[in-house]
Amino acid sequence: MKGFFRKLADRAVWLLCPNRCPYCDKLIGYHDTECEECIKKLFNGVRSRELPEGGRCEAPFEYKGQVRQAILRYKFRSDISAAGSFAKQISKVTGRLAPVIDAVTNVPLSESSLKQRGYDQTELIARKTAEILEKPFCAALRKVRQKRVQHSLSLKERRENSKGCYAVSDAADIRGKTLLLIDDICTSGYTMAECRRVLLEAGARDVYCASAAISELDRQD
Ligand SMILES: [Zn+2]
Repeated sequence: MKGFFRKLADRAVWLLCPNRCPYCDKLIGYHDTECEECIKKLFNGVRSRELPEGGRCEAPFEYKGQVRQAILRYKFRSDISAAGSFAKQISKVTGRLAPVIDAVTNVPLSESSLKQRGYDQTELIARKTAEILEKPFCAALRKVRQKRVQHSLSLKERRENSKGCYAVSDAADIRGKTLLLIDDICTSGYTMAECRRVLLEAGARDVYCASAAISELDRQD
């Protein structure tokens, strides 16, 4: 009976505020995170990019078309409904790592961007991915210096630009642990590589990396 009322309540919420597919805007079920057609069309295998200082980033999507639009709405127009879909698809490509991962963390926003935006979009994706993989979320990093906008810089400048931007919040939290580090988009990979380096230097045992999408090098990081 309890289950019946729960379903009824879910249905009422869905009727008042129906879920929509973040990629095509079609109505979807209360528990769905995207429509099947979009996933068939947009998700066709794991994307992967070598990171500059070792390791690789894996992603379910390429940063283009409907995925790019969904990420831009998510990042800049506070449309957070896509977080569930990004997390679900990231967990598909990283699920095989679940046995070795101790915690999930994210590439963090700066305090000022957080105040401006009201939420940290990569933290939200990382928290939901952690939930799906049944792992704890750990806010392992904080941003201590603001970067210049990456997409106007050469690759060499991007590398320098990322240095010294991130620090570990509490080294005791990550010492000896294997982490899954999550970002929304991976472009040059320097941001992720820098976060990975900082975590490893602070004593993490290993750091795997994933993002919702991997973009061409001339796109925004
Ligand atoms: Zn769709």
